[in-house]
Amino acid sequence: MKYNRILLKLSGEALMGNRQYGIDPERLSEYAQEIKKAIDKGIEVAIVIGGGNIFRGVAGASAGMDRVQGDHMGMLATVINGLALQSALEDAGIPTRLQSAIKINEVAEPFIRRKAMRHLEKGRVVIFGGGTGNPYFTTDSAAVLRAIEIEADVILKGTRVDGIYTADPEKDDNATKFDFISFDDVLRKGLKVMDTTAFTLSQENELPIIVFDMNKKGNLMKVLSGENIGTRVQL
Ligand code: UDP
Repeated sequence: MKYNRILLKLSGEALMGNRQYGIDPERLSEYAQEIKKAIDKGIEVAIVIGGGNIFRGVAGASAGMDRVQGDHMGMLATVINGLALQSALEDAGIPTRLQSAIKINEVAEPFIRRKAMRHLEKGRVVIFGGGTGNPYFTTDSAAVLRAIEIEADVILKGTRVDGIYTADPEKDDNATKFDFISFDDVLRKGLKVMDTTAFTLSQENELPIIVFDMNKKGNLMKVLSGENIGTRVQL
């Protein structure tokens, strides 16, 4: 295996499956099975989960809601997703801890870096909920931040597309996929991988990002064994 400790970022929307809103239990259990294969190989897995399938602060603000209020709702949405993912992982027999960036002690442990790392060493999947705990941030930023804190080898951004393209492959037939791309080239070409805050944090800390299609069975293990699927962003 190429990596020992990974941070897997899953968007909230990924949990919707084919639904328009909320959580698809079948998709969750498919993800749990994929993650189990990694755990069985001894890989330490931390996960940051988004909340876009339930609520986004920006959407609230565009409907006239106070942005901070909306972001609090978004952060709680990530905790809901974290609980759902935790339960799917436990159904698959994987020991799991949910740590939240906002205190919600009856429901999840508070985020404590040293504890998180200890859980990982013991083979538990650690799910980080609540984003960074601050409004005006995204769960991509939370993913990069946590990955750096726990000294993960790589961020794996599991999406619906199989990598980063020269243009939107759904709109442009000539779009081609990058196998590798530098952080500088992503910025120079104006490609969207993560929001700028998250992306520059990753660049500054020399933390590679791999964007890959998490919905295809076996892909996670392919990435972990170093197969060149998806796109790897590196220095
Ligand atoms: N959020 C926040 N601070 C954070 C992370 C998330 O306020 O550190 C809120 C924000 O409103 C965001 C929502 O939680 O829109 C859900 O997160 P995100 O949009 O990143 O989820 P994803 O797109 O990955 O599903």
